[in-house]
Amino acid sequence: MFFKRKTGPIIRERSDHCISRSNIDEDALKVLYRLSTSGYISYLVGGSVRDLLLGRHPKDFDLGTNARPNEIRKIFRNCFLIGRRFRLAHIVFGKKVIETSTFRRQPEENEATDGLYQAEDNTFGTPEEDAKRRDFTVNGLFYDIKTFSVIDYVGGLKDLEKRELRCIGDPNIRFREDPVRMMRAVKFAARLDFTIDRTSRKAILTHHSDILNASVPRVCEEIYRLFTYSKSSEAFRLLWDLELLKDLLPELDEHIRSSGNKHAPIWKYLHALDTDPVSENASNGLRTACLYYAFFDGQQKSELARMPQSRVNYQHISRSILSTLSERLHIPKMTFFTAAALLDFHRRFTDVPVKGSKRFANFVRHPDFLEALALYRIVQTAEGNDLTKVHAWQAYYNEEWEAAHRHIDEEKVNPESPEAAFTVVAEDAPPAKPSSHRNRQRNTNRPLNEQRHPHTRRPAEQLATPLPTEFGGE
Ligand code: ATP
Ligand code: MG
Repeated sequence: MFFKRKTGPIIRERSDHCISRSNIDEDALKVLYRLSTSGYISYLVGGSVRDLLLGRHPKDFDLGTNARPNEIRKIFRNCFLIGRRFRLAHIVFGKKVIETSTFRRQPEENEATDGLYQAEDNTFGTPEEDAKRRDFTVNGLFYDIKTFSVIDYVGGLKDLEKRELRCIGDPNIRFREDPVRMMRAVKFAARLDFTIDRTSRKAILTHHSDILNASVPRVCEEIYRLFTYSKSSEAFRLLWDLELLKDLLPELDEHIRSSGNKHAPIWKYLHALDTDPVSENASNGLRTACLYYAFFDGQQKSELARMPQSRVNYQHISRSILSTLSERLHIPKMTFFTAAALLDFHRRFTDVPVKGSKRFANFVRHPDFLEALALYRIVQTAEGNDLTKVHAWQAYYNEEWEAAHRHIDEEKVNPESPEAAFTVVAEDAPPAKPSSHRNRQRNTNRPLNEQRHPHTRRPAEQLATPLPTEFGGE
């Protein structure tokens, strides 16, 4: 008779790993300690343990415990229970939320009629079951606040050392259960500079089209997460390589195939976005414009070649190529219109700005001007062009802004004076709310000097410090 050998977790003691409490958020520590002194198991879980072991600063600190949601609520006055299917505790410290969840297990596997595994309800489980329901081994590690040790039920420590992203369980099942995990694999591999292990990679190449069964808002969210950490070029390259892009954005995939595959121009524009100072703070509109710039450029060139005598309708081209993205991923209208405007504005930078020209003065007052300039800088950098015009536009913008600022100072002395040219540069102005498309249209119908800025970033904030040369300043 054979018995399956039961092995316990790998435990790495405090002296054998690099996680120090000084790197853990102080509020997360408070919650960890309070749960522990109340007699519960209290672990730091998921991405934060992975990032701390890699010496990176975690984006958030999630906790796992054997305390049930109602028990957690009794311990913390600042606790809110959220979710219907599975209740999570949000412990709130000002604007910060420490997400604390009760250990749960992978739901029973039900073979549904369409052959897909369904991940329906969630049930409480042991720490081991909780580790095993997670997506990748490196995301299944625990840090125990009682012993300061790292607990590994899934082989995550070994994979962290090998810098490998491996599914917990059979990837052919795990990716079908939740196809978004395939996009998460791409995101983590690009972000952490890890390789996806052979079996998981093969499973993605087999099941990539299942991504079309995933919820569109989740997919859209993951698409924009691929731009984070300045790794968009690696991430989209992997998304394309693993054939997920073919399912998600077939037109863009076709453009890449017809323009040189791994030598296609799209990669250099994404790389220039990743290395640009604006990269981490770019709006989704600017990110979209960078992703689609090569496609847009190709379309406008073929349009010009087709009808050399007529005027090319750039706005039409930008909107029509972006409409496929919008239809497939339901991107917010704000993102769509910003991206379309940035692509359309691009050609305006071919002129050198002339002082005293109303046309140029109006252009720099446009709410999207700074991002349009960023796109221009990214394209010029990617193409290895001279940045003189970028600097000229930046200098012109600075001059106009200073002039408008002087105007505002005068206005403060004389409140009766006409509206300032840059309505939004008043330093004490509250940050504007991102506008809906309707507001945006209303906004653009106003005279330029009365338009409200649709972004929370205001020129005053951006220009508060002298612009370094990498921003195109002198
Ligand atoms: P990030 O730094 O982007 O927040 P993360 O690893 O913390 O990375 P989250 O999306 O915050 O990722 O999820 C927290 C944890 O929850 C993950 O580390 C993983 O263990 C688990 N998890 C998240 N999404 C899934 C999923 N689709 N399937 C299984 N486990 C998941
Ligand atoms: Mg996280």
